[in-house]
Amino acid sequence: MTAKQLHVIVSGAGPVGAVTAIALAQRGFRVTLLEASHRIDDSPRASTLHPSTLEYLAQVGILDEVIRQGLVARYFQFWDRDSRTRVAQFDHELLKDDTPYPFVVQTEQHKIVRIGLDKLAQYPDATFRSGVRVLEASQDGEGVSVVTENADTGGRETLQCDYLVACDGGRSALRKHLGVSFDGHTFPERFTVLTTLHDFERSLGCSYRNYLAGSQEWANLFKVSGDDMKGRWRAVFPTRESETDEEALSDAAVMTRLSGVDPSCRLEDVVHRNIYNVHQRVAGKFRVGRIFLAGDSSHLNNPIGGLGLNCGVHDALELAATLELAREGASEHDLDRYDRRRRTLNVQFVQEQTINNKKRLEEKDPAARAARLDELRAIEADPVRQRQFLLRSSLLASVAQARTIA
Ligand SMILES: Cc1cc2nc3c(=O)[nH]c(=O)nc-3n(C[C@H](O)[C@H](O)[C@H](O)COP(=O)(O)OP(=O)(O)OC[C@H]3O[C@@H](n4cnc5c(N)ncnc54)[C@H](O)[C@@H]3O)c2cc1C
Repeated sequence: MTAKQLHVIVSGAGPVGAVTAIALAQRGFRVTLLEASHRIDDSPRASTLHPSTLEYLAQVGILDEVIRQGLVARYFQFWDRDSRTRVAQFDHELLKDDTPYPFVVQTEQHKIVRIGLDKLAQYPDATFRSGVRVLEASQDGEGVSVVTENADTGGRETLQCDYLVACDGGRSALRKHLGVSFDGHTFPERFTVLTTLHDFERSLGCSYRNYLAGSQEWANLFKVSGDDMKGRWRAVFPTRESETDEEALSDAAVMTRLSGVDPSCRLEDVVHRNIYNVHQRVAGKFRVGRIFLAGDSSHLNNPIGGLGLNCGVHDALELAATLELAREGASEHDLDRYDRRRRTLNVQFVQEQTINNKKRLEEKDPAARAARLDELRAIEADPVRQRQFLLRSSLLASVAQARTIA
């Protein structure tokens, strides 16, 4: 007798939902991916994909296309913004014995969603529905009932599945419906993201990924390829706490910030402006019975270091492995391994690292600032320390640690 094919509903077709759906379809589950919106959100958010995540994207069969539509970055750099000098450069090639992908790929997250949905369409037992918002869910020993609302008609529908995965982002309706806490804090300042055609590689000698520490204000500079593949840069800055969104996005503030990094920047090169609230939060539980949380629905962090989406992709693959265990009759203890691994690693790696990354860049005390920059120089100078630093920044160390959590 063949075993019943299990049905999993995934709520939210962001990058984590798309990758989760493919990983489950690959393993023979029937998958329904529900997305509230009819359009893919292309606002500038994640772009940095670390070596550990590239390994997972290869497993789900989308890495070649992700690389084709992005930029390969072997190095990343730290700069002293005050003196416009490079402090340290880190070389992923030092990880060549640790990963088949000793580099980072800079591909915008909306492209990952597009590529993911194309891949998902190749699986006959996978269905993608847009304009369907998941409102709530109830469960018993047999399965989950999921209540949805049609974005166009407002009509309600109840769908049945064996397991439900909430990939519905930081404001997750399912997390709130389940009453799961989202512990942590929101920073008083917000982050401004300016997209410009100005070429910081040509003007300053930047790599494709740069972290600038400044005594007055920090900045991050990243190159992405853009939908036209012609290349553009994203410059990220903190706002002042008292600054309104309108002030931070005004021409005057935009030019003050960009010219503070490079006086040759021009306003006419700025093609997009955006502002985000920034949080450090982790859900109290990643699993409630047959419902699992993954990606931003279960953890949020500041984007310095580019870890949020990466960690979400790691959740996706761990969850697919967990549901495979469930299909084989796993115990409650086995299913809780998802929570034990993903929640622990998020707190120990992603939260700790992103908070440290932010502190390193925003240090204002001159002696402490000098000590932090000297520390980066010392790490760069010692290949053993540099490799250890890269193992953490690329999340390869977190993957190794996950395997030790039974
Ligand atoms: C400025 C900035 C830069 C960043 N840079 C990086 C980086 O370089 N690297 C990195 O790893 N991370 C980065 N991040 C974080 C990254 O963007 C997020 O971690 C990532 O978007 C999480 O993906 P997700 O699929 O979990 O959630 P989301 O991308 O938020 O997707 C959630 C999806 O669910 C849908 N949805 C919501 N509610 C419902 C519902 N009730 N029913 C159905 N669908 C629903 C939404 O429409 C959306 O499509 C950055 C974030 C910001 C703000």
